[in-house]
Amino acid sequence: MSEVKVVKFGGSSVADAIQLTKVKAIIDADPARRYVVVSAPGKRYDGDNKVTDLLYLCKAQLENNIGCEQVFQVIGDRYKAIEVNLGVDCDMKDELDAIYKKLVSGGSKDFIASRGEYLLARVFAAFLGYDFVDAAGLVCFDAKGRFLEDETNEKLAAELAKHDRAVIPGFYGTLPNGEIHTFSRGGSDITGAIVARAVNADVYENWTDVSGFLMADPRIVKNPKPIDRITYSELRELSYMGASVLHEDAIFPARAADIPINIRNTNEPDNPGTTIVAEVSGPSDKIITGISGKKDFVTISIAKNTMNNEVGFIRRILSVFESYNVSIEHLPSGIDTLSIVCDKKYVEDCLSDIVEEIERKYKPDKIEVHEDIALIATVGRGMSSRPGTSAKLFGALAKAGINIRMIDQGSSEMNIIVGVDNNDYKDAIRAIYSEFVTE
Ligand code: ADP
Ligand code: ASP
Ligand code: MG
Repeated sequence: MSEVKVVKFGGSSVADAIQLTKVKAIIDADPARRYVVVSAPGKRYDGDNKVTDLLYLCKAQLENNIGCEQVFQVIGDRYKAIEVNLGVDCDMKDELDAIYKKLVSGGSKDFIASRGEYLLARVFAAFLGYDFVDAAGLVCFDAKGRFLEDETNEKLAAELAKHDRAVIPGFYGTLPNGEIHTFSRGGSDITGAIVARAVNADVYENWTDVSGFLMADPRIVKNPKPIDRITYSELRELSYMGASVLHEDAIFPARAADIPINIRNTNEPDNPGTTIVAEVSGPSDKIITGISGKKDFVTISIAKNTMNNEVGFIRRILSVFESYNVSIEHLPSGIDTLSIVCDKKYVEDCLSDIVEEIERKYKPDKIEVHEDIALIATVGRGMSSRPGTSAKLFGALAKAGINIRMIDQGSSEMNIIVGVDNNDYKDAIRAIYSEFVTE
């Protein structure tokens, strides 16, 4: 059977007609690139707006009884310019008028947000001469908005089998009642992976504005080294912990079907980028594969003598968090200590109530709260075979004068997470990077 590649192009790759022309050249260069998933147009330059952000803004303005005509005009102008500059005719004006009507008559937030991808897929399909296949009705969610993988796979596979070449909008699908529902931000990466699975692609190429996954966020570390090959598990850890190149949930559909993901740069198409695979054979020549991190966590540290002997103690503490509907990110523990790490946004309104309830009900010897904590994950399949990795990491942070507020070393032996103050976030990443990446 001939080779099939699914290609997804992110916001900056589809930001305007110039970028879309580059994208067409990439697609035309390889006949296997038959299924194309697109994001909404992103930023064309620093300080520009992403269309998705502008669409959310329209909705927010309407909710606050402020008209959104001007913002919608800016969005419309971008699409009309794309249509004209690409020299295609896809009734953009009518499409925009219909969306505006729906917007002002109470169209849902998800519906409005999804139109960024929808319109771009329409105009780009016309430019490529590919079929337009709407994600609505094919990418399915349950009534609670949870993605339905099997149903989606069945429907998408059946539909795409009818199209030799197609453009599919990313980011959204439908609820059982037919309403549009979106994935979380950056979700076109997930659509790309779902399409790759549905057509049983040989590879899922994810085209963006960097030449693959780098060992650290290029906005923090200057010229970080690229990663040639990385395993799904390493990537999952890095992207979950903030490396925003690929949506963390994009890994599952590709992994389920054993489809390698290749991250590539639209502005540097000859660079082979990063390949993400199930396993990399042989030992890793590097101790660490990458570093990523996120700010704004809270740690609640509890000390109680003989905590370990008290059957059900941890469960009782956790049930307090559950009763406030707070999900827990990490749970590092010692013999008589337990730290609970959660995302600040989930505890903003209830932190003092949770602490008070734990003190009152379970009488710990000590309870300490640290707000404004950043978590940094140092990830590498090569770590488990190299003793002394954590000592080296902690030493690097000490040398840089950074206090470690929390340590969590997962049992996978592939990931060491440290908590530092938000203010130390960038310095900590730089310190770890320069300790492990020498040449
Ligand atoms: P797209 O719009 O193509 O989906 P994103 O903005 O979602 O692109 O992801 C690419 C961006 O991710 C890069 O421009 C870069 O700033 C950022 N990034 C964060 N961490 C990393 C990393 N470790 N390697 C490469 N890029 C990273
Ligand atoms: N356009 C959406 C966003 O900005 C989805 C995506 O780009 O992947 O989040
Ligand atoms: Mg993205």
